[in-house]
Amino acid sequence: MNSFDSLGLAEPLRLALARAGYTAPTPIQLQAIPPALQGRDLCGIAQTGTGKTAAFALPILDRLAREPAHRRKLSTRVLVLSPTRELATQIADSFRTYGTGLKLRIETVFGGVPLNRQVRMLEGGVDILVATPGRLLDLVDRRALMLDHVGILVLDEADQMLDLGFIHALRKLHALLPRRRQSLFFSATMPPAIRDLASRFLQDPVEVAVTPQATTAERVRQRVIFVNQAEKQALLTLTLADPAMERSLVFTRTKHGADRVVRHLQAAGIDCAAIHGNKSQPQRERALEAFRDGRIRVLVATDIAARGIDIDDVSHVVNFELPNVPEQYVHRIGRTARAGREGDAISFCAPDERAYLRDIERLTRIGLEVEPLPQDFLKAAARLPKPVPVPASQDAREGSPRHGRHGPGGSGGPAKRQGPPRAAGPADRPAGAPGRRRFGGKGRSRPQGGNNATRALV
Ligand code: AMP
Repeated sequence: MNSFDSLGLAEPLRLALARAGYTAPTPIQLQAIPPALQGRDLCGIAQTGTGKTAAFALPILDRLAREPAHRRKLSTRVLVLSPTRELATQIADSFRTYGTGLKLRIETVFGGVPLNRQVRMLEGGVDILVATPGRLLDLVDRRALMLDHVGILVLDEADQMLDLGFIHALRKLHALLPRRRQSLFFSATMPPAIRDLASRFLQDPVEVAVTPQATTAERVRQRVIFVNQAEKQALLTLTLADPAMERSLVFTRTKHGADRVVRHLQAAGIDCAAIHGNKSQPQRERALEAFRDGRIRVLVATDIAARGIDIDDVSHVVNFELPNVPEQYVHRIGRTARAGREGDAISFCAPDERAYLRDIERLTRIGLEVEPLPQDFLKAAARLPKPVPVPASQDAREGSPRHGRHGPGGSGGPAKRQGPPRAAGPADRPAGAPGRRRFGGKGRSRPQGGNNATRALV
C-alpha cells in the first residue's frame, strides 16, 4: 500500500508505479489526478521536474484502461501536443512505462524524420499519439490522420509552444478537434497570451499550480561573472576545469554558438557534446546518453533543444550567453536543483547583456551574486589551446549581428556577435510557416509576457 492508492487508479497502473519505484504522488499529481479522473478540464502551471507528465498520463491511462475501445483507422483517442521532439519522446516513454500491461498503441510523430513511416504507422490507428504541432498538421493535411475521435487532448509546455511560433498551428488544430473532449493544459508560466490560448481549449477548467518559478530560483545559487564576449570562451574552459563542475549544462543562444563552444572545449581536452536543432535525432540521443551516464560531463545546448529533457543531477548550469527573455533564464536554471536539491547557476554577462540581467533579476526578485574573474584570468586564458579554425562558410554565417529584441542600452558591444535568429528548427516549424520567418514582426517592441521568447534561439 502506498499513497498512490488513495487516488483510486486502476490496478495495472498501481503496479506500474510500484515497479517504477514511485511511493507517493508529487504535489502536482495530488492536485491534478483527482479532477482529471472525474473528466474535468485542467489548467496546470508546472515546470518539468515536478512530475507533471505522470499528472496527466495517469488519469488518461486510467480512462483507457477502464474504457477499452476499438482503435479506429487513421485516428487516435488521445492526442498529446508537445513543443519539441525530445519532449514528445519522453512523454511517450512515460506513457509506455505507466501503461505497461494495458496493450495500448502509443506512438510519436515529429518533424526531422521521414513522413512515410509515420503515415504507415497511423494507418491502423493508435490509442495515444504524442506529436509536435507542425508535423501533426502535415499529417492531417495529407489525410494520414483524422482528429474526429480525439477524446482527450493534452497541450504540454504551452508557453514554449507560443515561443516557438506554434500559435497558428494550434489554432488550426483547435478547429479540427471534436467539441466533446477532455482537455488538459500545462504551462510553466501563465502570462496573458497563454491564458488566452488556454481559454480557447478549456471548458470550466480546474486550475492546479505548483512551485511558482521563484521557488526554483531560490534553491539555486546564482552567480554572475561580468566578462567581455570575446573572453567568455576562455572563462568557460577555466571554469569547467574545476572538478566540482561534475555535470554541467552550458547554454548558448545559437546552434553555431553551441558548436563553437564544443570545438573550444574539446581543444582544451574537455569531453563534451552539443545538442541543438541541427543535430540529427540519433546524434542528440547519443549526446544525451553520454551525458546521462557520465561519459561526458559537459553538455552544450540551445534553449529549445534542452527544453523538457529529463536529466537528473545536473550540478551546474552555465549561461554562456544570457537569454534575452527572463522566463528562459528560469527554465534554464531549473535544469539544476531538481527534485528539491540544491543547484548552481553561473551566468556570463557581457556589457551588452546587462539589460537582460536586469530583467532576470526583476523577474526572479533575486540579485545574482557577483563573482570576480579568476585571478590572473588573462594570463591563464592566453595559455589555453586554440581549436582548429572553422570553415569560412560557417564563419560567414556567424558574423552577422544578432537580431530579436533590440540590444540593451549602454552597450560596449560584443567583440564577436552571435549568428542571426532562426525560427523553430525545421523539425518543429509550424506547417506553412516560411523557412526563415522573423517573429514579432514589429521589430523593436519588447516581448509581452514572454511569448516571443526564444524564437531566435534554436
Ligand atoms: P516530469 O516533471 O514529468 O518531467 O517528471 C520529472 C521526473 O520525476 C521524471 O524522471 C519522473 O520519472 C519522476 N517522477 C514523476 N512522478 C514521480 C513520483 N510520484 N515519484 C517519484 N518520481 C516521480
